[in-house]
Amino acid sequence: MAKDPVCNMNVDETKATIKAEHEGETYYFCAQGCKNRFLANPDQYLKRNS
Ligand SMILES: [Zn+2]
Repeated sequence: MAKDPVCNMNVDETKATIKAEHEGETYYFCAQGCKNRFLANPDQYLKRNS
């Protein structure tokens, strides 16, 4: 399972259609809105996990 970095929902990467690449990593999202929020400010969401 991948994790949606915006809302922390688990996303099945084998079925996910909404994804984005950022600095060589692929991220998966539950919804287009989450992807948009991530792309608008990726660092905000990535720092939360580290
Ligand atoms: Zn989400």
